[in-house]
Amino acid sequence: MKTKNQNADFLYVGKKLLDWYRIHGRDLPFRKTSDPYHIWICEIIFQQTRIEQGLVHYQNFIARFPEVRSLAEAETDEVLLYWKGLGYYSRALNLHKAAQQIRDEFNGEFPTDYNDILSLKGVGKYTAAAISSICFGKKIAAVDGNFYRVLSRVFADDFDISASKAFDYFSDLAVRMMPDEEAGHFNEAMMDLGSGICKPRNPLCGECPLNNDCAAFQLGKIPLFPVKTKKTKVSDLELFYYFVHFKDKFLIRQRGEDFIWKKLYEFPTQIPNDFESFCTTGKTIFHKLTHKNLTIHLTGVSVPSATLFQDFERVNGFQTVSFSESQGKSFPKPLQDYLALHFRQD
Ligand code: SF4
Repeated sequence: MKTKNQNADFLYVGKKLLDWYRIHGRDLPFRKTSDPYHIWICEIIFQQTRIEQGLVHYQNFIARFPEVRSLAEAETDEVLLYWKGLGYYSRALNLHKAAQQIRDEFNGEFPTDYNDILSLKGVGKYTAAAISSICFGKKIAAVDGNFYRVLSRVFADDFDISASKAFDYFSDLAVRMMPDEEAGHFNEAMMDLGSGICKPRNPLCGECPLNNDCAAFQLGKIPLFPVKTKKTKVSDLELFYYFVHFKDKFLIRQRGEDFIWKKLYEFPTQIPNDFESFCTTGKTIFHKLTHKNLTIHLTGVSVPSATLFQDFERVNGFQTVSFSESQGKSFPKPLQDYLALHFRQD
């Protein structure tokens, strides 16, 4: 693809970035390995989680599931449990399915070919590129929001990052900047520069190794880049839950695989008419997902006897758990927070 910066010295800028990375790159535990399984897990965890927040989760996850087979053969509930606190649980479900895919389709060996990696459940172009470059030295750019921001600023390039061709366009630009044999480090350097220096707001241009070459900085036009014309569509959704409990026991059910919060546990979404007289407190919780603003109406239902649970369980597929038993299961964050608050008060 033709870029708008035919005259730029791409390789020179790329080498400068790598020189900076060798001194200032973050010393992270997963940078000491080129095991594709470990890199895959860390790329999935850190896609939507800050490094400081996700590091302990990454270490615990790897300690419990040290290789593909242990993850493939784990129970779904246990995988979700090790994901607790990271949110976006569909990532954990996809990791689990992809591990089974590697076991069944690749004889348990992590694939080395870019397209094979891309065929794994939940692996997109970014992750496949990161694994291919870091673990197998392939000259492929792991283009993410950091790349879009840094490259569009450095080259004052107004290519629309919300356009369908943006990934290929910036990928092509980045590959021209990569010295041979250094694709993995180049991708890591871009991640570090984008997250630590060339931040979305208030970039630290004074500390940036590319400030002499950065067109947006030199022209005083940083706020104009990157260009994004389409906004992410966010819709509103209202949910109703009933926390049906007797002493420390309450009713829960595992969600299906459709819609949001796949395979997580939830409270009843409706109650029989004769339970309405047991309703106690009501609470409204606002919660944001990537594409949805949720308004959750949560009503406490304090039933006078545990035997009242039985019909509910049989007809609706619920189970009764105590608070300590519930801690072995994964709930959507608003419900988990509600439980923590409820049982701290009682
Ligand atoms: S000079 Fe500033 S805007 Fe340009 S790449 Fe560096 S941090 Fe980003």
